[in-house]
Amino acid sequence: MRSCGNYGCMPLRIKPCGLASEPGGMTQRSCVYFGARYVLGPIREAVHLVHGPVGCGYYGAMVRGEAKDLFGTALTAGEIIFGGLDKLRKALHEAFALRPSARGAFLYATCTTGLIGEDLAGLAREIERESGRRIVVVDCPGFSGKSQAGGHAVAYRSLLNLVRPFSKAEHPTVNLIGEYNVAGEAREIKRLLEKLGVKVHTVLTGDTRFSEIERLSRAHLNLLFCGSTAREFASALKERFGLPYLKVSFYGLSAVGASLRKVGEALGLSSDKVEDLIREEETRTFREIRSWLKLFSGKRVLVVLGAGRLGPLGRMLRELGFEVIGAASVFGSSEDHQEAAPFSGFLTDDPGDDEFERALSMLKPDLVITNAREQWRAVKLGFPTLSFPQERRRGPYTGYQGFVNFVYSLVRVLRAPVWRLKAL
Ligand code: SF4
Repeated sequence: MRSCGNYGCMPLRIKPCGLASEPGGMTQRSCVYFGARYVLGPIREAVHLVHGPVGCGYYGAMVRGEAKDLFGTALTAGEIIFGGLDKLRKALHEAFALRPSARGAFLYATCTTGLIGEDLAGLAREIERESGRRIVVVDCPGFSGKSQAGGHAVAYRSLLNLVRPFSKAEHPTVNLIGEYNVAGEAREIKRLLEKLGVKVHTVLTGDTRFSEIERLSRAHLNLLFCGSTAREFASALKERFGLPYLKVSFYGLSAVGASLRKVGEALGLSSDKVEDLIREEETRTFREIRSWLKLFSGKRVLVVLGAGRLGPLGRMLRELGFEVIGAASVFGSSEDHQEAAPFSGFLTDDPGDDEFERALSMLKPDLVITNAREQWRAVKLGFPTLSFPQERRRGPYTGYQGFVNFVYSLVRVLRAPVWRLKAL
């Protein structure tokens, strides 16, 4: 869709990514602290402790729709005026007493502790000396970036110093980097790699432990899934440990096949074995989805999502016969937009709530795909809506089985009887 530059003729203003949100408008963006929680939240064998008011703790407790272990200092006015380090020290000791198997801790700064200048690094060194555990300071006051994307970068930088040199694994071994294991997505990726004889050391950060991060360098190859959150981390591992990385995607049939071939080539696997696996899995997948393709053909979709899934989803939707009339990221990077551009009629970033509603009423899409925060506006206006992240019962959307699950989710949404009420 081309713009004449006049907002009046466009459903959404076309905004490049990377700009700050406009004051006065309502944005769906989160803060830098939340972005750090989004990345680090699932890491096990660690205490996660947020140093800030109770609201920050509450905000960071749910990550991708799941409650994660999180302690907080719940600062009040007195500690904000006179300093909260004593409370933080006490909270950290208490948290270690409650989680004795933790090998270390992540200490999250917030707006409040950033503003009053709490010396988290000094306290971390002191507790490391006392306890022998690693204390990682995550310097992520909410105001220190334009959106949660800034927190993703801070989180991965904070992990770098945990990684140590390690001897290589005996069998071909990879790490999945920037893979968040939504609804068990890593399980399907592992299933396919294991069929090729490739082991997965760890899944960063969707299914990982403190001790596995320390030994990341034992893998032969990093597979990079989300470039916008984790490319800097993968590049740093290549520089420090000579650990190469490959950008892959396991969303959509063409991408899974291409990624398996790339992995096979990089690890020197038998190409016959790779091709046999792809043929066998594709045949089974087509058999399962074939009867639904007619339902999807030519249907128009509007996609509004965080960032990294825009391109992969656009590709999957096109493979199924949909037309993506437009897409908007909430906190996209230029890499996300480059990936999504070939599949989308128009592309923008950080749409306000009023703009989203205007786009719905002007474009009248057959299907809306959006995140959990945005979904209710589209649902209330009567548009069939598929929300992300998907719940566990919908299953993974990665790999071949994930493609089938995605098709069934789309069928359920499009055929739900409730949308008939819209006409009443
Ligand atoms: S913006 Fe600041 S105060 Fe609000 S949740 Fe984020 S860190 Fe806490």
